[in-house]
Amino acid sequence: MSVVSKILRAGEGKKVRRLAELVPLVNELEPAMEALSDEQLKAKTVEFRARLAEGESLDDLLIEAFAVVREAAWRVLGQRHFDVQIMGGMALHFGWIAEMKTGEGKTLVSTLPVYLNALAGEGVHVVTVNDYLATRDSEWMGRLHAWLGIKVGRVGPDITDFLEKKAAYDADVTYGTNTEFGFDYLRDNMGANRDQMVQRGHHFAIIDEVDSILIDEARTPLIISGPAEQAARLYYQFAGIARSLRRDSDYEVDEEKKLVYPTEAGIAKVEQALGVENLYDAVSVGYVQQLTQALRAKELYRRDKDYLIADGEVKIVDEFTGRTLDGRRWSEGLHQAVEAKERVRIQDENHTWATVTLQNYFRLYEKLGGMTGTAETEAGEFASTYNLTVVPIPTNRDALRMDQADLVFKTEAAKFNATVDDIAERHEKGQPVLVGTASVEKSEELSRLLAKRGITHEVLNAKQHFREAEIVSQAGRLGAVTVATNMAGRGVDILLGGNPAGLAIRELRARGMDPSTEEGAAELAKLEAHFAKECSEQGEKVKELGGLYVLGSERHESRRIDNQLRGRSGRQGEPGESRFFLSLEDDLMRLFASGAMSWVMDRALPEEEAIEAKMVTKAIERAQNTVEGRNAEVRKDVLKYDEVLNEQRKIIYKRRLQVIDGDDLHDYTVELLEVAMNTVVTTACPSDYPEEWDLSLLIAEVTQYYPTKFSVEDLAQAGDRDQLIESLVNEALNFYEQRPESFPGGGVQAREIEREVMLQVIDQRWRDHLAEMDYLREGINLRAVAQQDPLVAWQREGYSMFGQLMEHIDEDYLRYILHVDAVAEQPQEPDLNQAVYVAAEDPVATVASAPLAGSMDQSSIDPPAPADFVPVVKADHQKVGRNDPCWCGSAKKFKQCHGAV
Ligand code: ADP
Ligand code: MG
Repeated sequence: MSVVSKILRAGEGKKVRRLAELVPLVNELEPAMEALSDEQLKAKTVEFRARLAEGESLDDLLIEAFAVVREAAWRVLGQRHFDVQIMGGMALHFGWIAEMKTGEGKTLVSTLPVYLNALAGEGVHVVTVNDYLATRDSEWMGRLHAWLGIKVGRVGPDITDFLEKKAAYDADVTYGTNTEFGFDYLRDNMGANRDQMVQRGHHFAIIDEVDSILIDEARTPLIISGPAEQAARLYYQFAGIARSLRRDSDYEVDEEKKLVYPTEAGIAKVEQALGVENLYDAVSVGYVQQLTQALRAKELYRRDKDYLIADGEVKIVDEFTGRTLDGRRWSEGLHQAVEAKERVRIQDENHTWATVTLQNYFRLYEKLGGMTGTAETEAGEFASTYNLTVVPIPTNRDALRMDQADLVFKTEAAKFNATVDDIAERHEKGQPVLVGTASVEKSEELSRLLAKRGITHEVLNAKQHFREAEIVSQAGRLGAVTVATNMAGRGVDILLGGNPAGLAIRELRARGMDPSTEEGAAELAKLEAHFAKECSEQGEKVKELGGLYVLGSERHESRRIDNQLRGRSGRQGEPGESRFFLSLEDDLMRLFASGAMSWVMDRALPEEEAIEAKMVTKAIERAQNTVEGRNAEVRKDVLKYDEVLNEQRKIIYKRRLQVIDGDDLHDYTVELLEVAMNTVVTTACPSDYPEEWDLSLLIAEVTQYYPTKFSVEDLAQAGDRDQLIESLVNEALNFYEQRPESFPGGGVQAREIEREVMLQVIDQRWRDHLAEMDYLREGINLRAVAQQDPLVAWQREGYSMFGQLMEHIDEDYLRYILHVDAVAEQPQEPDLNQAVYVAAEDPVATVASAPLAGSMDQSSIDPPAPADFVPVVKADHQKVGRNDPCWCGSAKKFKQCHGAV
């Protein structure tokens, strides 16, 4: 049994020990690796690839490949993977979550499994929480990979060129944020052919800060949506056209079945009104459905009987009780058509074009690995939702940080006073302080208090990842006070004494010098040398003062986030200290620890003094447990609800790909035609008795598919329904088979057109379906009132709506395919330039896209001219300048250090 298969069988508790047993195997190879020349070491990549091609597995290569990367990292980056880092790398390769504390060097750890898995040539995705980290890691670790002959790419909002992005995905390893990967996936599944797709599959992803991505952000799905204005305009236009059409000559109505049938004359009028040649050519715009719904709204839905107008809204009247059904809407555009007919505002939000939850996006990967400092508290959820095992990796050196007990105050004011006192005291000594807050508001409040005391400080709100990364990197300077929300400066290393390169460039700029000039560069080099020395001296002093002091101004709902904050201090065995300040007025306490509160209230305790009672600490822990549990439930719920949509999405996306990849639809079309003729005959002719046949209805229905030559008299000759069906099927098939003759490209072009039509019908109907599922989801909780389990109702109704969707797709397709002339000059829908992207990036980013939220709030469109739609542009992506200090703390310019080419 190979060493590797042994480890895979190891039980939960044994995994770490088994990993540790493999490390010596890597270490044994070290002398041999050291002896290799650069060229020989690089050649290992070629050798490994050849051995893979000959049938060896990645697991077979694991030990050697890790030894190669370790040696290469030493030569290229000047860093040699510690033994625990080797263990972490293996955990990632095996598809586990490596829990490694902050500062343990997870960025470097990832290079091991990235290299190994990249050898397979199927693409490895490295997922980060923000673009700053994606840029940093792709360039920093990219040097190592490139040296070893592994191609590195990065995707991000600044990479807008299609080919550039495609190249990034074609690389052996691709760096990017979770949202970028997710949105690319959605966009890929909106394209009309393979050439428009950037991703080439989902083989292996390594997620950095995996708890942030898979737990914290998992409650909000990624959504691409488009403006509804265009659609609204079209509804009004069709309502006007419907008004001008005449019953019986332009269309026929079957009141009983609630159906309308436009005649050829009617269609011609509509085409003229719209100025189009063939109504059926514009598949993706859906003129035909619009017309049908406008006519149904006109003829079949009566005001004050079927619906009321109240508060400018169309409300459905329940036909049995006569009461209005609040929150319900007719589907498939009928409701909007009625609104247009009544000239009220069309209640139509941004149209969802595509959506996926992060959970379901990441479940697409064949293998998933994750790393973070804080995973254990959520191990259960990782296991159940993602099938990911958490493996805690020991630290490289013993942790020295002192985590002090919480201080609890009666009032928030007293807490803040004590907080500021503590900060002032430490600041006076020169100890650097990092203050964590739970919200931007609290940050600002604290900032005001600090300013009053004359304490210089920085405030970070996770608004600008690049700028804030620079500031956080200096949070370990003597006397530095940095106030930051949880998200701010994530993933940035805080060196005690400061980051010399950053200080040097700052100083140079302050002197008004340009680092790109010869003079500036020379000066910068001097400054860097100066600061390197200065920072290391400062670092020693900071250590004597106890290292970085982390002060939490409030407990977060989740212990994990608190641990993240604590973890900013005491990296790599350095000294450090942390403490949380709480008050009974904190949200967490008020809402979830009322028992403890009344206990305190019953005792006449002084305001200013901290309460040190086990009872309170216990209560906080319980409160956190409660909230964590509740949030986990919410996420599970989101997942259960999304399950329905996810299954549907998978089916639709698969179908699209079949069509895109050249599925021949000829035989399928024949089948559909046969079924359709069967259906129309059985609807119009309920039995074999000719007296019960409604032949003019039958002809009206058949005409919706193709222009039949049969008259009522012809059809009356038939002896039974089977004969009717047979004649119609024959005629229809003949019509279908002869159509290619009218195309210049004949049968080949006919097949091509069929595929294009099918794809557009799928997309159009799928988008409508998503909108309807949205409505259903919004209203589903009202079902609880009607004694229904909302989830069950959602599953049942969602299922049935999907069934209808599939039927409608086939039906639409069939109609179009027998009418369409050519699909060449289609208005391309949807126009992605108008798309709005929504994700739960972080709280502040959500605020940053306020114009979007605004346009969604105004969720209705006024009858005449809708306001211009302003697309939301993502915040400009800042890049690390070539002359800026390198993030690694080397005291060199980026271009001379990790940015060197
Ligand atoms: P984490 O993501 O685990 O918090 P980082 O990847 O940001 O940690 O690394 C923290 C710091 O440790 C970085 O400055 C990095 O260069 C340094 N580092 C990581 N591994 C090593 C190593 N093997 N030898 C020397 N320095 C290392
Ligand atoms: Mg990190």
